[in-house]
Amino acid sequence: MADSRKVGVLGGGQLGRMLIEAANRLNIQVNVLDVAASPAKQISAHDGHIQGSFKDAASVKKLAQSSDVVTVEIEHVDTHMLEEVADQVTVEPSWKTLRMIKDKYAQKLYLKEHGVDVAESLDLEGKGVQALKEVGSSFGYPYMLKSKTEAYDGKGNYVVKSENDVDAAFEALGKRPLYAERWADFRMELAVMVVKTKDGVLTFPTVETVHEDSICKLTYAPPRNVSRAITEKAQDLAKKAIGAFEGKGVFGVEMFLLKDDKLLINEIAPRPHNSGHYTIEACPLSQYDAHLRAILDIPIPASALRLREPSIMLNILGGQSPDSHIQIANRALTLPNASIHLYGKGDARPGRKMGHITITAPTLAEAEAEIQPLVAFVDELKG
Ligand code: ATP
Ligand code: MG
Ligand code: MG
Repeated sequence: MADSRKVGVLGGGQLGRMLIEAANRLNIQVNVLDVAASPAKQISAHDGHIQGSFKDAASVKKLAQSSDVVTVEIEHVDTHMLEEVADQVTVEPSWKTLRMIKDKYAQKLYLKEHGVDVAESLDLEGKGVQALKEVGSSFGYPYMLKSKTEAYDGKGNYVVKSENDVDAAFEALGKRPLYAERWADFRMELAVMVVKTKDGVLTFPTVETVHEDSICKLTYAPPRNVSRAITEKAQDLAKKAIGAFEGKGVFGVEMFLLKDDKLLINEIAPRPHNSGHYTIEACPLSQYDAHLRAILDIPIPASALRLREPSIMLNILGGQSPDSHIQIANRALTLPNASIHLYGKGDARPGRKMGHITITAPTLAEAEAEIQPLVAFVDELKG
């Protein structure tokens, strides 16, 4: 046993599952709080899991009692429960950080106060259609209407293209706490996985992320046609942003690279992130290894976060048929450099994250050539 401490995780989805893959290699037990047979529990047989909702107070308490460190694989948790258990168990990152980040508008205000450039935002909570029109006059069109909370994979965003869209936008999101963002006319989206340890802040390499319908589709490491000066500037910005928060662990930092090479932060995730999946094959330590080590104060050599080989990650999103992800995985089996990850979620639904594939190769061009037919097949199944 490398470590007898037990890690408790709120949430048992694919991020929890990949965290367990890393923990298993170090003989570290991870207790998962989620429904039975969630993706994470499927690969971890011990009696320390807790069956229930990570939104239920009694279950969170039970998890805290049976773990040495509690962490999350999702930020949509009740941080008041975590605040309550924080005197019995270490919570990483801090509940204060989770509370600030889970509200995307509060997160942006906080970053701005700390001198970090973010997309310009206006509060719309409690306001009506008229206020949405006023945003249009102030920001111009298009602008992005966003829910402050419970947002993921673009569920919570609405592109307001003109004043004619305002009613439909309010119809779609009006029941949620809203804010508006000025449209970022970006050249590219970038992301950096940041690791906050007891000693400081480290970063993985900068990656390019490609979103389709507001869902991450592909990541490229390194980014295509971006200078080293910019990838380093992105790492510095990500470091500065995460340095402003309390607690340890991995954070995903999403950014817009504007046409004039200015960088703006889009949003932060206080946990391992889709844009860091590539690290499993492409770096000596993965984002999951790093998260586990950071929250347990296990050493992380900074150079272990380097890119060993260029890589491309393709998300396996559910298509039109319930077995679309299996068809994609089967196709990937014929590729010599493809690592296939399926998440154990059962039937696919359109747009649902069912797995991912990472290809690493000596050059990005070789990785691109190998993954291209697979990307075309994914597009075909999407219908
Ligand atoms: P995630 O699954 O990453 O948590 P989310 O639902 O929180 O996503 P955002 O990250 O806010 O959504 O937005 C999703 C995508 O929508 C972005 O990656 C980007 O492509 C686009 N987008 C978001 N905000 C803006 C903006 N202000 N201007 C232009 N495009 C934007
Ligand atoms: Mg988000
Ligand atoms: Mg996002």
